[in-house]
Amino acid sequence: MKTMSCDICDKEFSAETFSSWFKQMQGHYMSDHADFMEQAKNKSQEEGVKWVSDMRNKFESL
Ligand SMILES: [Zn+2]
Repeated sequence: MKTMSCDICDKEFSAETFSSWFKQMQGHYMSDHADFMEQAKNKSQEEGVKWVSDMRNKFESL
């Protein structure tokens, strides 16, 4: 089990795999960082893909 906190706030999420961690983050983003989600809509898909890949690397290196 790995624990990694949200990149915006300090809330921590524990999961066995990155995809499971990411799923929890998605729910957290939608409820706690709705503003950020709204802004993210204007960002390019590339940025989103990069974010996921950065977070995955971070999770994998824990
Ligand atoms: Zn957060």
